[in-house]
Amino acid sequence: MKKVLKNNLVGIPRAISYYHNYPFYYGFFKSLGIEIVLSDKTTTKTINDGSKYVVSDTCLPIKVFTGHVINLINKGCEAIFIPSIQSTGYKINNCSKIRGLPEIIRNVIDKPFTMIEPTLDKTENISFKDFCEQTANAFGITDKQEIKKAIDNGWKIYNSFWEMTKSGVSYTDALENAINGKIIKKTVDIVKPISVAIMAHGYNLFDERISMNIIRKLEKMNVKVYTSLNVSYNDSISSIHSLGEIQYWANELELTGTAAYYLLNNKVDGIIALSTFGCGPDSLMVDEMMYHCKEAGMPLIHLTIDEHTGEAGFITRIEAFTDMLLRKKRMHLDKKSFDSKEHIQNKKIVEIKKEKILTSSIK
Ligand code: SF4
Repeated sequence: MKKVLKNNLVGIPRAISYYHNYPFYYGFFKSLGIEIVLSDKTTTKTINDGSKYVVSDTCLPIKVFTGHVINLINKGCEAIFIPSIQSTGYKINNCSKIRGLPEIIRNVIDKPFTMIEPTLDKTENISFKDFCEQTANAFGITDKQEIKKAIDNGWKIYNSFWEMTKSGVSYTDALENAINGKIIKKTVDIVKPISVAIMAHGYNLFDERISMNIIRKLEKMNVKVYTSLNVSYNDSISSIHSLGEIQYWANELELTGTAAYYLLNNKVDGIIALSTFGCGPDSLMVDEMMYHCKEAGMPLIHLTIDEHTGEAGFITRIEAFTDMLLRKKRMHLDKKSFDSKEHIQNKKIVEIKKEKILTSSIK
């Protein structure tokens, strides 16, 4: 960040931290008078463009991120926001690819643009306030009061976004309302025949191209869907602790915290683990939750997506899983009603026997 930018425009790739932090980024940059240019939504072209620049066994989200940077460069963005989020708590680190994101992009894309690359590293005492100051300084803004006001504005929009999603408002609706300064809440929880929780990173699940719009597909199958957006940070942490686990990586809570929460409160009929090809941390985290689900008798399916995954096979697997959940639930309900009928029958037999004994003793 040696060069101080003279214009007030920043490009934000619609990938990785965008999916969790955009409400904050929006409020922060808006307050500083910096206009945001977003990259277009992910398409097959975005993935292909990104894949050309990185080695083939890089994880899919990083290929997608690279494709979004290319998209912003093609749009003529001079400054692109590529943060280095090293750790979000003391020794709560991100995976090496998220930590080294500016380095990856610098080394693979040889095109002229300025990288806005603030660092967040709580393990090394580089706080979130420092992160925001580094960002503002890159645009020549150094007034601490102005930056503080922008941080407050960022949190305001971020908190209203999360308030909405916790009540069950969808990701897209919550985002749209939050950045328009509105808050809507879901008051009625519609009951569906079966419900599932999806454990996945937000940058995989809410990117409709990467996730193949799995949420919409499940809803069309009349399945109630829960995600990490419906679970608070505290509930995620306490749930993984209740399973005797600890948090290993910064962004794993979207997976383990969500699965642990729904496993413990018995609110869903099954869990879908959605991960992408090439992710080291996810392969361990999914295995860990598979173990706990098996112990608890909770069905879990693991779907791995890469740039070649076909939609037809993907739908077939979801359909097979939801059919199995429905059959399992029906069998359980039938057994319960059979058991209760048998119980009533047995009770009657006991009462008749008691009556007979009583009558014979009177005689
Ligand atoms: S956590 Fe996994 S999917 Fe996400 S950037 Fe790191 S390696 Fe890629």
